[in-house]
Amino acid sequence: MPPTTDPLLRVRELRKHFPIHSGVMSQVVGHVRAVDGVSFDIYEGECLGLVGESGSGKTTVGRVILRALSATSGDVHFRVNGSETNLTTAPRATLKSLRRHMQMVFQDPYASLNPRMTVFDIVGEPLLVHGMKDAREREAAVEDLLRRVGLESHIMRRYPHAFSGGQRQRIGIARALALRPKLIVADEPVSALDVSVQAQVLNLLQDLREELRLTYLFIAHDLSVVRHISDRIAVMYAGRIVEMADADALFRSPKHPYTEALLSSVPAPHPNRRRARVPLEGEVADPSNLPPGCAFHPRCPYVRDECREEMPELLEIVPAHTSRCHLAGELGLVGLRG
Ligand code: SF4
Repeated sequence: MPPTTDPLLRVRELRKHFPIHSGVMSQVVGHVRAVDGVSFDIYEGECLGLVGESGSGKTTVGRVILRALSATSGDVHFRVNGSETNLTTAPRATLKSLRRHMQMVFQDPYASLNPRMTVFDIVGEPLLVHGMKDAREREAAVEDLLRRVGLESHIMRRYPHAFSGGQRQRIGIARALALRPKLIVADEPVSALDVSVQAQVLNLLQDLREELRLTYLFIAHDLSVVRHISDRIAVMYAGRIVEMADADALFRSPKHPYTEALLSSVPAPHPNRRRARVPLEGEVADPSNLPPGCAFHPRCPYVRDECREEMPELLEIVPAHTSRCHLAGELGLVGLRG
């Protein structure tokens, strides 16, 4: 169950279509439907995992929410201090004042830190931009932020090249935390890290969430990464959410064949519980040329005639568990226990 009854973020029918230009006149000949009608809520203190293969539109959702990209249509309502603002239509000045409340943690800790800036400058920059002019005050704040992410303060004068991938990601997290945001959009924050380091950074994000009452939209291509940190998980395919549920329910009893296939590649916790793999064959649907009916039908092992003609709606199959599949109520899909 969500931790509170008031969503911090309400996303409604969000769309991001990129025009395709062609010819000498650069005419618009089509659209890439990267995000095509996505709706969800995130409650204060909650972590929503957003999962899908590369090309599913999940990263675009994160970027549109933070207005790094403008939406084609739809609304993103963000609630701060009891009042809600629609981020898709908010004027620049309003957005600027809200930015401190929503920050991003990036995928690539090597590319996301400016190599010419010291750790002090990287972590302290948002504080400076938002009015903390006193260098000593900033130094104390940076020291505190570094301590929170498990780094020692004496590294402050060093440059990013001196650090490992995991340490760089901690520096990126410290920077994201500098303004005490409410919402963190974490875009594949551990996928560039070694497996052993992934667990440490995930644990850090989990601890910080509890300590600072942060709210996360946690984007990943790998279900096993979001499993333990997410309260709920939304699975995306071809720009749409195809399943959403509490993390445990989604793992135990998936209601969409795409989720079942993604789950079958998650390592089973006990070797004697290993299941038969559900192969995920074929390419991800092309968002500029989606198949008719269910976008997943060319890859679905359960496809029927109606799937090729009629697009399924996202419907509640059991309480708080939605699926976009004509057969969601009848298929006994295999999940992952333990
Ligand atoms: Fe498969 Fe049909 Fe369900 Fe689509 S609607 S996921 S093709 S069973």
